[in-house]
Amino acid sequence: MKDRGTILVVDDEQVVFDSLELFLEGRHDLLYASNAAQGMQIARSQRLDLILLDIGMPDINGYKVCRMLKHEPETTDIPVIFLTAFASPNDEVTGLEAGAVDYIVKPINPAILRARVHTHISLKIQRDYLELLVRQDSLTSLINRRGFDELLNREWCRAARGHSPLTVVIIDVDSFKAYNDTYGHIAGDVCLQRVSSSLTSVLHRAGDYLFRYGGEEFAALLADTPFEFVPMMAERLRLAVQNAQIPHAQATTGDVLTISVGAATIIPNYHDNSMTLVEAADRMLYQAKESGRNCVQVVDLGESGDAIKPAA
Ligand code: GH3
Ligand code: MG
Ligand code: MG
Repeated sequence: MKDRGTILVVDDEQVVFDSLELFLEGRHDLLYASNAAQGMQIARSQRLDLILLDIGMPDINGYKVCRMLKHEPETTDIPVIFLTAFASPNDEVTGLEAGAVDYIVKPINPAILRARVHTHISLKIQRDYLELLVRQDSLTSLINRRGFDELLNREWCRAARGHSPLTVVIIDVDSFKAYNDTYGHIAGDVCLQRVSSSLTSVLHRAGDYLFRYGGEEFAALLADTPFEFVPMMAERLRLAVQNAQIPHAQATTGDVLTISVGAATIIPNYHDNSMTLVEAADRMLYQAKESGRNCVQVVDLGESGDAIKPAA
């Protein structure tokens, strides 16, 4: 588990950042933004564990920045501590009501700063760990369905902003009921772990995610992958499982365990629902099953809102 934590300091005076660097004695990784706009941009794009936020800044005041951070899904979970010369109780109440976890008055007392930063970084790291467990499937250690829904929405917004493609792949093990009936439920569990490893071996890029979607169903999310590569990626997933050579005497597709794969790609738009993409991938999976299993079906939905183009 990461124990240092990354802190963003947003303050229009560089000298404040320099003194914080000194006071925090190299215990954390520090980033610096000299104005609110730059601070928001870093907070949206980097993984942060804490923000130390000034109130009196020339572009946007810190209270407003804090409200914006708490409002946006990408930044809402980052704890914010105000670091300010505004010392009245009213100021502090306004800061805490804006969503800050703590309030430190300048001039900074280094020992108080270190203690409070340590407390909030530790809490954030523990919370992240628990949240990870809640989103992890215990059999395969993959991200579970809850994590899929969240990541899909996050990647949907990211792709909409960047006008880039997003792909959902849904994978279903073929004739798995027969596998359990033949080899037993425990062997079935081991088999799902092997399928998970085989699928994982195909997905290495940052922006590729694999999930245990449900019982014997897996899903993948591919960000920034142009549609022309999607049939190849889906085919690699299918082959990885076939090549694992897991014996399956009752398979309708041969004598090893296989999967069917459905995939759909879209260039998302904020106003549409990400479930349209999942439903399209599901339809493709259904077609793959209908076409005899152990095969892949893909569809390019083009730009969100366009009519569906037929698969290549
Ligand atoms: P198809 O080729 O059409 O997908 O047929 P199938 O037999 O794979 O599909 P069906 O939905 O009929 O059966 C799925 C089976 O997967 C039934 C269920 O008991 C089994 N299953 C689901 N989750 C688990 C699990 O965690 N462990 C084990 N061992 N089996 C599971
Ligand atoms: Mg199924
Ligand atoms: Mg199945």
